[in-house]
Amino acid sequence: MPEAANANFANNLEAFWMPFTANRQFKANPRMFVGAKDMHYTTADGRQILDGTAGLWCVNAGHGRPRIVKAVQDQVAEMDYAPAFQMGHPKAFELAARLSALMPQGLDHVFFTNSGSESVDTALKIALAYQRAIGQGTRTRLIGRERGYHGVGFGGISVGGIVKNRAVFGPLLAGTDHIRHTHDPARNAFTRDEPEHGAELADDLERLVALHDASTIAAVIVEPVAGSTGVLIPPKGYLKRLREICDRHGILLIFDEVITGFGRLGRGFATEYFDVVPDLMTTAKGLTNATVPMGAVMASKTIYDAFMDGPENMIELFHGYTYSGHPVAAAAGLATLDEYKEEGLFERADELAPYWADGIHSLKGAPHVIDLRNLGLIGGIELESIPGKPTARAFDAFLRCYDAGVLIRTTGDIIALSPPLIISKGQIDQIIDTIGTVLKEVA
Ligand code: PMP
Repeated sequence: MPEAANANFANNLEAFWMPFTANRQFKANPRMFVGAKDMHYTTADGRQILDGTAGLWCVNAGHGRPRIVKAVQDQVAEMDYAPAFQMGHPKAFELAARLSALMPQGLDHVFFTNSGSESVDTALKIALAYQRAIGQGTRTRLIGRERGYHGVGFGGISVGGIVKNRAVFGPLLAGTDHIRHTHDPARNAFTRDEPEHGAELADDLERLVALHDASTIAAVIVEPVAGSTGVLIPPKGYLKRLREICDRHGILLIFDEVITGFGRLGRGFATEYFDVVPDLMTTAKGLTNATVPMGAVMASKTIYDAFMDGPENMIELFHGYTYSGHPVAAAAGLATLDEYKEEGLFERADELAPYWADGIHSLKGAPHVIDLRNLGLIGGIELESIPGKPTARAFDAFLRCYDAGVLIRTTGDIIALSPPLIISKGQIDQIIDTIGTVLKEVA
């Protein structure tokens, strides 16, 4: 970018209060993207950066795909906006039908939102209202999991388990609790794919049932694979066991598939990968390939019917957003589903997964590496923290990778990788080689 254009934004890097970013640190070393195509971002100073994270786990089909670009352009020209309260437009219904057809079984109904956070809060509200609709109104408690991330709404941070995201925001939603997380490095470090040990951690839900009584618990929400807290792969059998415990006690199971959805595990959704069907599922991100913000909550027929056939005052769900089912987002979603299907991207991710796993695990023995985790096209590289300076080492690696032309993401001292599903083997090598080199340089 010409220097003059650079200067325009360089003069004011504090008007935009950035999310999850200390503006004044960013200002000292701004990383500014001005273009994106397929696997690469272009920086303001004209460099190509290989996208090892699909943006924020969201650009699953790669950047600037012509089919999606055209669908969005056409839709803006045809109809920019239509409300979905008491009226509708065909593409939102078509997208919902296409999504329900993608679900392995039973999740037949779709409620549209604009983000993962909104999907989570929507799912929690549907769970509470459903319990009331079926005469189980004492079930008001919502259970999350330690080290879970469910976005930043008050519901999401209340059931979420990231201390920093909760600490300064007051008492949060009343009546939530958390089961233990599934990360067990003593038994599972350096496991390829799903860890062998720890299915019994699901029994922690029985502890909360004993503590609170099942009659007070509405739902449990978990990420099938915890992403934002550092790629925690569920132990073999864990999710099935959680499902069984929920069934035993009449507790709804919600899968937060905001990152695992749309091919990340080499399947449409994690529910298919793990062969466990939740009652509600949240999605966002890959739904529109992140081109236009959109999220969705998938609900089982049982839940949907409880409202439709239920008490007169509940047949309408008193919840929704101005932009629920937004026509431009719906058009982007339809084109994205076409892109996944016609390019065979879920199958491609599945085929690439073993090569990806080889790459991740080739870093065993690299400096500072204390664990390596992978599933589908997700990778986690855990570094030993510098005493008293958690996050410093991984963040240093992030900065060095960026300088070397590879975008990675870090959470704590864990490098989290989630490339677009169109990545080539050569580009996988580039990511792994760059990280390997950088780990020799970081303190
Ligand atoms: N749930 C999960 C599992 C996520 O990973 C995220 C975002 N990383 C969210 C919810 C929140 O999504 P959004 O940022 O679109 O609100």
